[in-house]
Amino acid sequence: MEETLKILVVDDDEVDRIAVRRALTKAGIEMDLSEVSDANEALSALNTTSYDCVFLDYRLPDQDGLTLIQHIRSSEIKVPLIVLTGQRDEQIAVELMKSGATDYLSKSRISAETLAHVLRNAIRVYHAEMQVALANQQLRESHEQLIYKNQELERQQQQIQMQNFKLLEASRLKSHFLATMSHELRTPMNAIIGFSQILLRPKFGQLTHQQADMIERILNNGKQLLMLLNEVLDFSKLETGRLDLKPEIFDISKVINTTVGEMRSLAEVKNLSLLVQTDLQNPLGFNDPVRIKQILINLLSNAIKFTESGDIWVELKELPGNRVAIIIRDTGIGIAPKDFKHIFEAFRQVDQSITRKYPGTGLGLAIVDSLVQMMGGKIFLESEVGVGSLFRIELPRRVTSPTLAIETPTLKREKGEQEQIFCSAQNPHQSSSQANKAPIGYPK
Ligand code: ADP
Repeated sequence: MEETLKILVVDDDEVDRIAVRRALTKAGIEMDLSEVSDANEALSALNTTSYDCVFLDYRLPDQDGLTLIQHIRSSEIKVPLIVLTGQRDEQIAVELMKSGATDYLSKSRISAETLAHVLRNAIRVYHAEMQVALANQQLRESHEQLIYKNQELERQQQQIQMQNFKLLEASRLKSHFLATMSHELRTPMNAIIGFSQILLRPKFGQLTHQQADMIERILNNGKQLLMLLNEVLDFSKLETGRLDLKPEIFDISKVINTTVGEMRSLAEVKNLSLLVQTDLQNPLGFNDPVRIKQILINLLSNAIKFTESGDIWVELKELPGNRVAIIIRDTGIGIAPKDFKHIFEAFRQVDQSITRKYPGTGLGLAIVDSLVQMMGGKIFLESEVGVGSLFRIELPRRVTSPTLAIETPTLKREKGEQEQIFCSAQNPHQSSSQANKAPIGYPK
């Protein structure tokens, strides 16, 4: 042992104390040795000084060794304790160890070797015990920390659930408000439109040019407002899963051509050329033609709205895997890649300012997105600011509709070949927020 050990010998017999000191000195132990002769002195020494080891006589005048050990350990005094027993005391060795003695040695066996051996052992055992106690303490602390963190996490989870619940409730109220308002506003709006149309009929009397002009404005604005209300109503239905597709067999090319025809005047007002190319070997599809038309109107009116000069192309193409693509391309203002994802979100527009140049609700693409998802299709967007945009909708030629789960209509190809349509039951009320988002990619 290289360092000087602070050792306390507790024994009322001076001869025994001398024997211990001699043996330790003989063993060559570097030490600072103190001696006391009873339990009280021992306790006060231990309370004031920190020792590396204590040799303790089992039989003391004021207390037996067992009681003293219990006293020391209950006072949380941490020190290796070696009990020196007389020959008759050896049977209580087990009791001593249980009470907290580190080791014991019969006084009859005291020698330089045994004492040095017991001392080294006791210090080693004691250090090991301390390390175990420390590790245990650390374990207990980390266990407590874990419990605390767990509780904290549970609390946060509850808060998140609560906020989620509130958000869902707010969203439900918003959808309900949108649905009710748009529905309620449609009735007076239809009356405004209807009466304006009646007033414009010649049989209701001759109007001055100025009066006719004003009523036409009322009519046009009314139609515009009704369109916006319908958009809001559709969106709230889609959001709450209350919009069902009504699939039927129809001529896709025809729907595309008719819709483009209806929108042509809007393009002409802005001097834009509107070109359409339908290139389907088999023009028949099984889908909801009203909703296909709605998708096209939304995309085409955007193309016209956001294009100041140049051309707009509408293309209908056959795709492998019995799918079709509807492509709308313009030479308009274009969209920056950072906005690609956002513009498909409800009420999101690239220009969110109140002074924005282009009017709109910001619902058109959200509706398109939801409808395309309901149809099992995908939307792809390519665009460059200042150059133009291309929206490509890829749809299965036949949608699988839960409402028509048992029917298996047939599509007749032009060549006379027949194709079965199998409809499988799926969740009809899957809203755009519940459904998997259609990827918005940039096809080459
Ligand atoms: P709205 O047209 O009513 O604003 P949409 O949901 O139809 O709402 O479109 C969202 C936004 O996406 C538009 O406000 C516009 O910023 C952008 N956008 C859509 N289509 C085009 C397009 N063809 N060219 C440029 N920007 C477009």
